Amino acid sequence: MAAYQLAQEALAAEFSGRWAEALAAVEARQIAGSLTELEAAYVAAIRESAAASYALSIAFYRLVRALETGRVVGGPGYRPGASLGSLWVDFNRATGKRTGSGPSTPLPVDTRNPFPAADPAREARRAAEAFRHQVADRVERHERERPAREGSAALDDPELVAWEREFLESLKTGGSGAGGMLVQDGGRDAVHIALQDDPGAIGYYRKTDDSPCYFCALMAGRGAVYKSKRTAAFGAHPHCHCQAVPIFSRRYQLPAENDKFTRMWRDFGGGSLADWRTYYRTTTKT
Ligand SMILES: [Zn+2]
Repeated sequence: MAAYQLAQEALAAEFSGRWAEALAAVEARQIAGSLTELEAAYVAAIRESAAASYALSIAFYRLVRALETGRVVGGPGYRPGASLGSLWVDFNRATGKRTGSGPSTPLPVDTRNPFPAADPAREARRAAEAFRHQVADRVERHERERPAREGSAALDDPELVAWEREFLESLKTGGSGAGGMLVQDGGRDAVHIALQDDPGAIGYYRKTDDSPCYFCALMAGRGAVYKSKRTAAFGAHPHCHCQAVPIFSRRYQLPAENDKFTRMWRDFGGGSLADWRTYYRTTTKT
């Protein structure tokens, strides 16, 4: 289900683009005075893309479930008379494509809605928190250091210029990492919560991006995570584009990369997480 993972990654990238644009519109020396506007832009961009991620995840979940069980599940975006054909159209539209086809026979319906409702207050709080840690706190530190850094140096002093550039880069990277995580959590949380509440689901596996970090590779290599009373949190991190792909029958097939990570883990043979990290880095960087 690479199309799904890529579409979620694209939503995070779209957000990062908007954040970079908002930052580029402000002079470095004006940033401290523009925090209110920047925060508004940051939070709005996150929430818009997180809503798209949420809708995409539900369309994806509903499609995978219908393909594996032959039944359609209710909840947000459900349309009476849904068929495999219409579910493909819904999913493709959510990924930005216009096409999609499949049988138009209406599927039997499970009216239960396993999807969590959007929680705007919580989303806004998390986005504001991310802004504070990744942007506002950094700006404050930067401004505190400024007098000592500037001293008697000229404004075009190479060291000073590099210092400013590094600062801007950290706002861009830090802000897009934390924001992109919230964007994708819009969808990731929907899938992860729906699994728990859907008697039809038996678990999930982790679909990583093309070059996951050692931690995500390890998680993906574990294969399917069967649902239990307390399925552990998904464990995403900033700049992580992993997605949970729900499983509805024992006949699922893991992506080739997941099997590759399983083999790698076996060849590694055991050790600490730090050992695995080194092993993974040297094995993947050839
Ligand atoms: Zn990841």
